[in-house]
Amino acid sequence: MGRHALPGTPPVPLTLRKSAQARRISLRISQLDGRVTLTYPKGVPEAEALDFAHQKEDWIRGHLQDRPDHETVEFGQSISIEGKARRIVQISGRRVLLKGDEIGVPAGAEARRLARFLKELARDRLTGACDDYAAMLGRPYSSITLRDTRSRWGSCSSAGALMFSWRLILAPPEVLHYVAAHEVAHLIEMNHSPAFWAQVERIFGPYKEARRWLRDNGAELHRYRFEPAA
Ligand SMILES: [Zn+2]
Repeated sequence: MGRHALPGTPPVPLTLRKSAQARRISLRISQLDGRVTLTYPKGVPEAEALDFAHQKEDWIRGHLQDRPDHETVEFGQSISIEGKARRIVQISGRRVLLKGDEIGVPAGAEARRLARFLKELARDRLTGACDDYAAMLGRPYSSITLRDTRSRWGSCSSAGALMFSWRLILAPPEVLHYVAAHEVAHLIEMNHSPAFWAQVERIFGPYKEARRWLRDNGAELHRYRFEPAA
C-alpha cells in the first residue's frame, strides 16, 4: 500500500491498492471517514493509476464536499478510537466499555459519557507516553492538561506544562505517541531546530510518517460532535 495525495487545498490523501482481482482502475470514497481508495490491476503501473485519480479530481472533491460537515455520536454510528473504527452500541450497566470493534455506552447522555470516557483514556495513554519520554530525556514535565483545541495538537510551556488535544485518542497510537514525544522534546529545545528534531527522533524514532498522518487526517478527528449543537 502506498501513500499519495492529490495536491491542493486541502490535499486529498489517497490509499493505493494493487489488486490481482481488479480488472480496471477504480476509486472508492468511504462514507465513514472519507478515505479515498484507488484500486488498480496488478499489470497497471502505479503512475497510470495516479493519473486516473488526477483526472477524477473534481469528482473526488465534489463527493468529499457532499459529506456532512460532522459526524453525530450516537448508537449505530462508528467512531475511530486508537485508530480503529468501533461501533457505538447501547449496553446496560453504568460504565462505558471498549471491547473489540465495539464501544458499549449506557443510554442517556451517551455522547457526553463517551466523550468523558475518551478523555480519560487519552489522559491515561498520554501520561504513560510522556512519563516514558520524559524519563528518556531525564527532564520532568510539570503538568498535563487536556483540551479540545482546534488549532494545535499539543503544546509545551517554558515552565514544562504540557497540553494536548484529547482527540488524539481517536488517532492511531503511534500518532498520539509522536505528539507526546514532540511536546516532551520541547522540554529541552524550545524551538523546531534540527537539534529539536534530533531529540524527537532519539526518543520516538522515525517520526515523519506520524507527522504526515496528522497533517493529512487530523481534520477527521474534529468531525465528531459530542455536544448538542448550540
Ligand atoms: Zn513543536
